[in-house]
Amino acid sequence: MELTLWTYEGPPHVGAMRVATSMEGVHYVLHAPQGDTYADLLFTMIERRDRRPPVSYTTFQARDLGGDTAEMVKTSVREAYERFKPQVMLVGESCTAELIQDQPGSLAKSMNLPIPVVSLDLPAYSKKENWGASETLYHLVRSLLLPHVLAPGSKRPARDLEMRPKANIIGPTALGFRCRDDIQEVLKLLAEIGVEANVIAPLGATPDDLMRIPDADFNICLYPEIAQTTCDWLKRSFDQPIVTTVPIGVGATRDFIAEIGEVAGIDVSRALARSKADTLGNWNAARLSSSAAPGASRLPWYSRSVDSTYLTGKRVFIFGDATHAIAAARIATEELGFTLVGIGTYSRKFARQIREVAKQHGLEAVISDDYLAVETAVAEAAPELVLGTQMERHIAKRLGIPCAVISTPIHVQDVPARYSPQMGWEGANVIFDDWVHPLMMGLEEHLIGMFREDFEFAEGHMSHLHTAPHAAPLQSAGSPIVASGSEMAASAALNSESKPMAAASEDAAEANGKINGDTETGAASWSPDGIAELKKIPFFVRGKVKRNTEKFASDRGITAITVDTLYEAKAAIGQ
Ligand code: SF4
Repeated sequence: MELTLWTYEGPPHVGAMRVATSMEGVHYVLHAPQGDTYADLLFTMIERRDRRPPVSYTTFQARDLGGDTAEMVKTSVREAYERFKPQVMLVGESCTAELIQDQPGSLAKSMNLPIPVVSLDLPAYSKKENWGASETLYHLVRSLLLPHVLAPGSKRPARDLEMRPKANIIGPTALGFRCRDDIQEVLKLLAEIGVEANVIAPLGATPDDLMRIPDADFNICLYPEIAQTTCDWLKRSFDQPIVTTVPIGVGATRDFIAEIGEVAGIDVSRALARSKADTLGNWNAARLSSSAAPGASRLPWYSRSVDSTYLTGKRVFIFGDATHAIAAARIATEELGFTLVGIGTYSRKFARQIREVAKQHGLEAVISDDYLAVETAVAEAAPELVLGTQMERHIAKRLGIPCAVISTPIHVQDVPARYSPQMGWEGANVIFDDWVHPLMMGLEEHLIGMFREDFEFAEGHMSHLHTAPHAAPLQSAGSPIVASGSEMAASAALNSESKPMAAASEDAAEANGKINGDTETGAASWSPDGIAELKKIPFFVRGKVKRNTEKFASDRGITAITVDTLYEAKAAIGQ
């Protein structure tokens, strides 16, 4: 048993639903209790689809458990076949149905329908949504293509050099992060280098399309969490190489083009040269004309332009699925000049890759699907920006840290009406805007650092977002995010702008009294002069300074943190 309030992923049958809903001509019969149809809303509301997912539920109730639930499966399969006339049927079970062991897949197969029936065995108590999607895609593709696999040891015939190389794009699904627009960007990149898109799957594909997968020269594993297992099988079965670079970010997009050049044996130097064209001169009116060849992405120039100088060294914490987290770490550090202070994923299958990235930055990766562990890690790292999922948006909000969403799980606002890819050149433009937007603008940051007593532009205020001053994060290392009474009092005192300093100091003394009373934590107390000095530190790094100073004091057995302690800690730690 695991106490869970939020989960990063749904049960595996939701992953199977994502694959079925992505496709045309596929129907999914799900043995599930009454109420499981809630998952329909993910598609009709979050993704705003205009029709229900192609899923029939057996919706058994408590009173059915004494009867023949297996017969309910057969009835659902029969009715779904007659009503929807799919080309392929998926049959599986949800968590509760797994317990009653009706084996719906075998039952459906025994009915001898005139279409392929793919039985899904998705263990709901040990696996999750992305794994469910990955397995479903793999079993679907495998069931259809098994009769056509190459004989063991045989090779694909060499590509006809007169023909353009063909690629499959594997992995985009319903409810994936920005898949809809990423596909468009990838298609543009392929068109530029003369590669034909053969099949895009599962999003928008039919079973007939899946049958054409072997026609391609190679597979692009666009979302490894979903596509890796299928691409590996296609490589073994059809000798199709895999392009593994995910083109999120300018550097990764260049690497993606270069890798395709290598795998397909084509010259991509022109596209790579164009990608390096500097957009600086685009401000020249002549270059803005339609005849001018634009630079590939504006991100490189935007991030080099002088307004971005203040972004250098911003402390960023990244969490999400492994694919987006790895891409984000590269963009953040190589393309925007941020400093990575934390990285993690809930995609356990890709933990090794995340650990490697963490190691390069001298960090320990957070591999967890427990949001409380992520909260603690974020609080300890005290970043100035969090790039994460919808969960991290909540965490960051409570801590008063700016945040942008880079990965599922997402809410409805991350399925926007406007074109919003993450991949390719335009994706890099979108990323630049989305990640910089939550941060305080440079001039405001500078002015608030200089003049702290302004009645409107108080600490924590971000006029471009109309935000009121927030309670800046002041947790001690390892303390829970849900602040204790004493922490809230200290925080309120430390962030109080309306009171004169003396009154604030009294509040702080009171807060300290409470902290001191909290003998279990053994935290050093802050003297009024220490608190006054701490208040002078810009709010977005104050949490980090406070934490470091408290650790410095505790390491040396200092019980009262004065202004001197604060500066000694600063000198010692170089914060
Ligand atoms: S069967 Fe699984 S998904 Fe459905 S309600 Fe129960 S726990 Fe939730």
